[in-house]
Amino acid sequence: MPNKEKSAASEVAIYKFYKIEGEKLTRGRRECPRCGRGVFMAEHKNRNTCGKCGFTEFRRSDESKKQTNKS
Ligand SMILES: [Zn+2]
Repeated sequence: MPNKEKSAASEVAIYKFYKIEGEKLTRGRRECPRCGRGVFMAEHKNRNTCGKCGFTEFRRSDESKKQTNKS
């Protein structure tokens, strides 16, 4: 059955796409510790704020930027 093989292949491709997108999101943006998963905080110069509950988290000066510059 050629039809069955086709549908199976497209399912795998969709699964892969979502997996990559999830990794990107969790890397770039921080989730709110109060609201939990799915609520991302807005990034500012040296702090992150949650638009939902107003939680503010201060970041350490430029630690994360130095890491990306290294390579
Ligand atoms: Zn929040």
